[in-house]
Amino acid sequence: AHLSRLERMEPALSALVTPMREEARSRSAALDIALDRGEKTGPLTGVPVIVKDNFCTRGVRTTCSSRMLEEWVPPYDASVVRYLEEAGAILIGKANMDEFAMGSSTEHSAFFTTSNPWDPQRVPGGSSGGSAAACAAGYAPLTFGSDTGGSIRQPAAFCGVYGFKPTYGMVSRYGLVPFACSLDQIGPFSRSLEDLLLAMEVVARPDERDGTCSRRPRPAFLSALETESLKGKKIGLVKEFSAYEIDGAIDATLKDVADLLRSAGAEIVDVSLPTMKHALACYYIIAPAEASSNLARFDGVRYGLSAQAEGLLELYFRTRRLGFGPEVKRRLLTGTYVLSSGYYDAYYNRALKVVSILKDEFERAFSEVDLLLTPTTPTLPFKKGENMGDPIKMYMSDLFTLPANMAGLPALSLNGGYSGGLPVGVQLMGPRFGEMEIFGAAAVIE
Ligand code: GLN
Repeated sequence: AHLSRLERMEPALSALVTPMREEARSRSAALDIALDRGEKTGPLTGVPVIVKDNFCTRGVRTTCSSRMLEEWVPPYDASVVRYLEEAGAILIGKANMDEFAMGSSTEHSAFFTTSNPWDPQRVPGGSSGGSAAACAAGYAPLTFGSDTGGSIRQPAAFCGVYGFKPTYGMVSRYGLVPFACSLDQIGPFSRSLEDLLLAMEVVARPDERDGTCSRRPRPAFLSALETESLKGKKIGLVKEFSAYEIDGAIDATLKDVADLLRSAGAEIVDVSLPTMKHALACYYIIAPAEASSNLARFDGVRYGLSAQAEGLLELYFRTRRLGFGPEVKRRLLTGTYVLSSGYYDAYYNRALKVVSILKDEFERAFSEVDLLLTPTTPTLPFKKGENMGDPIKMYMSDLFTLPANMAGLPALSLNGGYSGGLPVGVQLMGPRFGEMEIFGAAAVIE
């Protein structure tokens, strides 16, 4: 049923870089045989899943929606892919994204733009836009993305589904092609909270292959569904966010959700996080800096594209010129600049200082409240092309999501309603490893 859904919708949506119909059918047949033989089922036996095309998949090309890796086939699986398969899930495709996860609309994919299932003239968000659209359109009940500054939550909001960025270190990044290692996290998309929590039970576990993956035991995520009341809980609204221009429908939805939380027993209070206003600027120093270092591996020798050239320098130049799109080049130039001697202290080091202040402010906020409630994005899904000429406008899409990455916090985008036929998302943020707090609140208002 899911494969025929995929086949019917894909010509209109273009959510997948690589559909895996044949692989999925043969894996499904193999599972049938195993089950007939009496083999035990896993928590996801037979459940179709889709992962973003920056998750390494053994034997299946992993392009990062870049010409650089168009034909690159990894020799190993990302840990998350392995966990999903061990749980019995069937991988049915690799989802479109902005090239190397840099962008907010999938328009920076080197191949094609994905359409928003609610309105094909509009973008699905990004960078995990293919995963979000595929989930919303019912290709699979569970899809996965990566979130460096909002790339799970912003497309989840634009497509009307759940999208969760776990605490930094909650889910292994092993086998995720890195963008900015200190910010990247893998997380799920789903259409129901229960599915999301089930996904977390499968993918959130310690992993020796990722040195930043926490060793602490993970909670029984599904038990959050039993939460009945938010009595005694305090939920904060960030005062500074009201200074930004936010779409009226999003503001109204935020108030509706705050009312729901209040009627479930929570107390809604204002919280001040004055350094939030510098988060966007600092993100666009730190993320490109890390990217310029991470993407140095694409040199025409080790991975993917290798241009015809005479001599090593020409090989580097030509490969990068051909292999990277304009947004990636912009990030690499910015990143190299802010790390260069003479500018390192003025930009990179200063941005790190601001991040440590931001972390302190969050810590203070979470000593006063249990959760923060914010919009996920300042705007509704925008039209294709609308922000392509103006990178800053595109970057503004992540205004409310990127602080969670900078502080390593968990954050969930959930659908709060609709406006003119388009979904409206809101975000719940919690303290580090405070996922159960977030899921409990989401369960009460689902
Ligand atoms: N849109 C942001 C960027 O372009 C965030 C991307 C992401 O989370 N991967 O950097």
